[in-house]
Amino acid sequence: MNKKILTAVTALGLITAMTACGTAAETTTTTTTGESKVTAAESSESTTTEENKETSASKADTVDVNRDLTAYVLSDSDSASQMAEKIEKRYGVDIVYGDEIRTVFDDAGDDIHAEKYTKEDGIKVALKSVDEALAVFPQGLIEQLSYGGKGILKIYLTGAIAKGSEKPAPGAYPAFTTDDDEELYLTIDISMDGIINVPTVSHELTHVIDFKLHDLGLIDEDEWNKLNPEGFKYVEDYSKFKQSEFIDKYSYCSEHYIPRLLTQPDDQVYFYYNYSIVNAYEDRATLMEDLITYKMWGNEIAPGLYKFEHVKAKAEYLLDKVKQAFTLNESDLASWKKAWNEIS
Ligand SMILES: [Zn+2]
Repeated sequence: MNKKILTAVTALGLITAMTACGTAAETTTTTTTGESKVTAAESSESTTTEENKETSASKADTVDVNRDLTAYVLSDSDSASQMAEKIEKRYGVDIVYGDEIRTVFDDAGDDIHAEKYTKEDGIKVALKSVDEALAVFPQGLIEQLSYGGKGILKIYLTGAIAKGSEKPAPGAYPAFTTDDDEELYLTIDISMDGIINVPTVSHELTHVIDFKLHDLGLIDEDEWNKLNPEGFKYVEDYSKFKQSEFIDKYSYCSEHYIPRLLTQPDDQVYFYYNYSIVNAYEDRATLMEDLITYKMWGNEIAPGLYKFEHVKAKAEYLLDKVKQAFTLNESDLASWKKAWNEIS
């Protein structure tokens, strides 16, 4: 049994998320001020399964991380279906959009549903962003994400997403990721003319990578917790992280996408921003946002984040596990290493 959903809810730069495991007991949604929404969910222990390990190892053997990708570069004259096909072939994913999408996502005990979005122009805009988000990762990584007989990563491009009896509202739930017994998928709301927040997609992909690291038994949460301050505990509650006493004490900043304002000593910085305190998965996904954005756009969203020794140690732990888990293109790895050295 291994089910997880993580939802990134972005409004004005705020990313929140939801985790629901197979035995999750309850899920609640609360709305905060203005355009920001906070989704909350109780999460419970998930288990990893032995059989997944073999499948992922054999999968890596069949991926050619050095193949020529020029045939898959998107062109503005491509139709949406031509773009989708190029992305599928380049990254080994399954892109599902228009009338073909799944509209009900209730397999982790959550009643999540999505509308359809069928406008060709908007789908093309979204596909370009999806391509940008996938392209930032070293060649070979995305296609090695599937494991345990789940098939390849599915990416659903949907209309507005809602939970329970909520009325679907564009952008209320920009994206979520699910890893259950049968499937691995990423669902993205493209209802706003296809415009999506690219770092949100990268954040979600970090969760998918994290799922795989867990299934391979590479992440030891006790070991991870040793990298956190003594006496620290994650909030483990998506509705309460903003009240955590640890934010001002140990975070680089208190909210997302702002420069560092907190003034604690350098050796007391362990987390990026308030959302990192929710749980270890969100800590790791937020931790990677700055590096990914720097690699993608050439500028940090959290300048100097990795200069803090504890933050750096955590990022290095994660990067090391990624290297162990995946067979990757060597020149892409070198370029990531260069980016890492530049900002750490
Ligand atoms: Zn997340």
